[in-house]
Amino acid sequence: MNVKSPATAADSVVSFVNVRKAYGRSVAVHDLNLDIGRGQFVTLLGPSGCGKSTTLRMLGGFEEPTSGRIILDGRDVTDVPPNRRNVNIVFQDYALFPHLSAARNIAFGLEMRAVPRDAIARRVRDLLALVHLEEFGDRQPGELSGGQRQRIALMRALAPDPQVLLLDEPLSALDAKLRHQMQIELKSIQSQTGKTFLFVTHDQEEALTMSDQVVVMNSGRIEQMGDPETLYRRPRSRFVASFIGEANFLDARVLGREGDGWAVEWAGQRFGAQGDEGLAAGGQRTVVVRPESIVVQSERPAQRAAAQGRIVRRIFRGNLTALTIRAAGGAADGAADGAEVTASVGPAALDALSGDDVWLSWNPENATILND
Ligand code: ADP
Repeated sequence: MNVKSPATAADSVVSFVNVRKAYGRSVAVHDLNLDIGRGQFVTLLGPSGCGKSTTLRMLGGFEEPTSGRIILDGRDVTDVPPNRRNVNIVFQDYALFPHLSAARNIAFGLEMRAVPRDAIARRVRDLLALVHLEEFGDRQPGELSGGQRQRIALMRALAPDPQVLLLDEPLSALDAKLRHQMQIELKSIQSQTGKTFLFVTHDQEEALTMSDQVVVMNSGRIEQMGDPETLYRRPRSRFVASFIGEANFLDARVLGREGDGWAVEWAGQRFGAQGDEGLAAGGQRTVVVRPESIVVQSERPAQRAAAQGRIVRRIFRGNLTALTIRAAGGAADGAADGAEVTASVGPAALDALSGDDVWLSWNPENATILND
C-alpha cells in the first residue's frame, strides 16, 4: 500500500500554529497544531459541530482566528484577506453562475485575473477533459446533472491553480451511488493534478476512501491523525475506534509485556494485544477488536488463547454474517455470563461451525489497547 506519511513543518504547504477560534465564550477550535503535506489529500473528519468547517474557513480567510498563526507555503497569511491567498473553496451547494455556460464558469476566475484568451481556452479544454466533459462546455448549469455540475464547480475552483483546494462537504447533496462514484473521481483528480486537497466530511467511509491522511476531530480538538489504515487498525481512543468502523470494546486487565505487545486477561483467558510502551501491568483497560478480527471456531484453536462462547444472535448481511456471541465466564462480577462480542464472519467460516457453542480468539496483531 502506498501511504503518504504525515507532513512535518518543513515539507508542509499549510501549518496551523496554536490556532484557536472562539465565538463569544464558546470555543469552536482549541489550540490547533496541524501540518498539511504538499500534494496530499487530507480530510478533516468528525461529527457535526466539532470545528471542521471553522478550521477550513480560517484557512480560506473567511474566519479570523482568535489567536495563533496560519502559514501558507512559508508565508504568514493570518491577516491576509481571502482574495489575496492562493486557495480556493468548493461548497456543497456549488453555486455555479446559472446564466454562464460550463466553460465560462470554469474560465471565470481566470478572466478576473486577466489571463490571455488563448491560455484560458486551453486551460478550460484541459479541465473539461480531466472530468470527461469535453462535449458539455456550451451547456448551461441547468442543462447538466447534479454530478456534472459538481465536476464543473470543482474545475472552476481548480482553474486558477490554487496552492490548496478546500472542499466543504462537497458531495453531501448527491445520492449515495453518485457520491461513491464522485469519491473515486475526486481522488483520481487529486492524484492527477498533484494538488493539495483539504476535505471536510462527517462521513467516515468517505474519509477512508479518498484520503492520504485523516484528521479526526472531536469538540474542537484533534483526536488522532493518520493514514486510513493506521486509524482503523490502531485507534488510540474510544472516540476514534467507534467513529471509524465498528468495534468491540472489551474490558480487560493488562498482565504484562508479551513479545512485542502485551498480554491481557479477558473472559478468564490470556490474550495478546498491541499497546503503547508505557502501559502499567495490573490496570484495567479497554481493548478494541474489530468484528472481522474475531475468529469463531467450533474447535478450540491449538496455537493460541481462546474463550468459550455461545452464539446468541445471527444477522445475515449478504457477504458477511454478524454473530453476537456471549463469552462464558470471567465476568468482572463473577456471573456465569461474560461479555457479548460481535463477530463478522464469511460464508466459509460460518459453514464450518457445527453449532452455537464456539471458541473465540484473535490474532494479537488485531487487538489494540486504548489509551482512554
Ligand atoms: P463542523 O464543521 O465540524 O460541523 P463548525 O466548525 O461549523 O463545525 O462549528 C464548530 C462550532 O462552532 C459549533 O459549535 C458551531 O455551533 C460554532 N459556530 C460555528 N460558526 C459559528 C458562528 N458564526 N457563530 C457562533 N458559533 C459558531
